[in-house]
Amino acid sequence: MFVIALTGGIGSGKSEAAKQFTNIGVPVVDLDVIAHELTAIGAPILSEIKNIFGHDFFNKDGSLNRTKLREHVFNNPIERLKLEALIHPAIHTKALEQLAENEHNSHPLYQILVIPLLFENNRYDDVINKVLVIDCDENHQISRAMARSQMTESEVKAMMRAQVTRATRLSRADEVIINNGSLTELSENISLIHKKFIKTCIVSK
Ligand code: ATP
Repeated sequence: MFVIALTGGIGSGKSEAAKQFTNIGVPVVDLDVIAHELTAIGAPILSEIKNIFGHDFFNKDGSLNRTKLREHVFNNPIERLKLEALIHPAIHTKALEQLAENEHNSHPLYQILVIPLLFENNRYDDVINKVLVIDCDENHQISRAMARSQMTESEVKAMMRAQVTRATRLSRADEVIINNGSLTELSENISLIHKKFIKTCIVSK
């Protein structure tokens, strides 16, 4: 199984890039999507979150108040570790299951594994063959992240400071797509890199 880790800073365009890989038929496993599914209303893990963090982090309809919990753990490292200890192993198990299912069902030449915080943890090192970084300049990152999530500029900047620097990310990339232009340009760059990955996979088979 050839797995490309797709990563990038907040608002860099990881989800857009992932969508475009899906559009051209490459299987995508996304840790953020899995995290959402595992904490969707009615999911078993919610009762464990409630036991640890209390009812305050839940909306009236029983759904998780993600914004409140995110802010809480962002400001409390010990609380963050508690949450991570609960959900990261479950995300890991699910991600490996999905990769194996894709492999079994469609025998793709390669798969994309979206790992937003790739360089902040090493849990996936064993399954990754190459690292693709989606990069854009910080002004784009801030405006796009704000437009998408209703976070304020200072909240986005705080998130950026909590992540590895762009320089670190770029130094550890095998491939980089610069996403400073339009979505059409992003799509063209995804097509180009797709051809390159296909060649790499064929050569390394
Ligand atoms: P996060 O880390 O917050 O999950 P992300 O890296 O997944 O973010 P996206 O959600 O793909 O980033 O992009 C952030 C916002 O910017 C989205 O609204 C997306 O549609 C938009 N966007 C991404 N790339 C471009 C682009 N090249 N042109 C215009 N808008 C873009």
